[in-house]
Amino acid sequence: LLDRTEATVTVIDKLPTPGGLVRAGVAPDHPGTKGVLRGFDLLYRDPRVTMLTNVSVGDGPDEITPAELAEHFDAVFYAVGASESRRLGIPGEDLPGSTSATDLVAWYNGVPGVDEGPPLRRGTADDPATGRAVVVGTGNVALDVARILVSPPELLATTDIADRALEILREQNVHEVVLLGRRDQAAAAYTAAEYRALSEIPGVEVEVFDGADGQVPSLGEPADPSRRRIVFLFHSTPEEIVGNPQVQAVTVRTGEGRHHVAADLVVRSIGYRSTAIPGLAFDDERGIFRNADGRLVDESGEVVPGGYVLGWAKRGPSGGIGANKKCATETVEDFIADAASGRLQRTQRNKSEFTALVRKRVRTVIGYRGMRAIDRRERRRGVEQGRPRVKFTQVADMVGAAGWRKA
Ligand code: NAP
Repeated sequence: LLDRTEATVTVIDKLPTPGGLVRAGVAPDHPGTKGVLRGFDLLYRDPRVTMLTNVSVGDGPDEITPAELAEHFDAVFYAVGASESRRLGIPGEDLPGSTSATDLVAWYNGVPGVDEGPPLRRGTADDPATGRAVVVGTGNVALDVARILVSPPELLATTDIADRALEILREQNVHEVVLLGRRDQAAAAYTAAEYRALSEIPGVEVEVFDGADGQVPSLGEPADPSRRRIVFLFHSTPEEIVGNPQVQAVTVRTGEGRHHVAADLVVRSIGYRSTAIPGLAFDDERGIFRNADGRLVDESGEVVPGGYVLGWAKRGPSGGIGANKKCATETVEDFIADAASGRLQRTQRNKSEFTALVRKRVRTVIGYRGMRAIDRRERRRGVEQGRPRVKFTQVADMVGAAGWRKA
């Protein structure tokens, strides 16, 4: 919008820290990918941009509604991503110790509100922990999760992984991750670069088995503690997650039979869905906001003037940062076409009215200076430990670092 128009832009984020998946999704051991944040920062401090973070859109008492946004702006772009996980729909999916990549990634990336780590089974003398985790899916998210679970903790300790995760990973010592792909390796969803990167983790072996040919390794007991391994099992579908009271194993069907894979943790990494926002039409089946090529539509399919959606919230959860930038560009071009052809309704409100509304509704709005203050504090904490940053994981601490005094 800044490049292509003379618009002023207000950026709203429900968390105090902007950046979405770059902060909350990109794996801690991929610091290079996070470099894109430097480019974002140039935009955040553009004189035509107003940052309003720690502000949520919804219908709650301290939220701003979509109708209010529509009233106060000529156009509203929803770039809210997809923050819920899809479900497998198999027995045992809700047992403690069975979790989603969504929750696990949010936990190790320090997202506020996800304090509870995965309840990894600790085991007993009679029934020891296996040191093994099973990840369902072979997309890049599954690979991220596998790397983080199996990497030697001393390597993770040099990244910005959340302290809460580092502590548990050190203690629990998962040393084997089994990834289940329901099709063959050629159809795996990961990208070649991410697959190759697995063999570069010091001390970690990668082994691949094709369940169709009957060559399935023995996985019914604890993993060999002297090895760190990532095991791919293709042509393998989870049928049931079993355990009492916690996950103990997964029953997996392969081309030639059923296998019992003992595990302390099961992570489903089979894709995401957007979270609906009251006031915006939602396609519950696909888990995206109803839209016609990025223009929001209402329940009857009519285009909502000035309403746009982009990224995973528009297309579903596929494609990385590059694909989403392209999607944003296309949506902005559609907006420009709509503006040029008179399809937008200009707001009658001035900008200060919106700022006043937000300040009245949300007690601790954070602006650019507050955001920067949080960033500086996190980096400073990192310097002390030889890490890029040590993230705050509680909104209250972020709000404090941004300069708001505790009530
Ligand atoms: P994804 O690439 O769509 O992978 C989903 C995986 O789940 C596939 O292996 C899929 O298998 C499997 N799956 C789906 N439903 C299943 C079911 N019912 N039972 C068993 N398996 C099932 O999704 P993602 O890994 O969440 O990644 C989302 C997007 O972010 C992708 O475009 C990814 O490349 C991108 N991303 C990129 C990076 C990076 O560049 N480093 C990192 C993270 C994410 P089928 O193929 O058989 O359906």
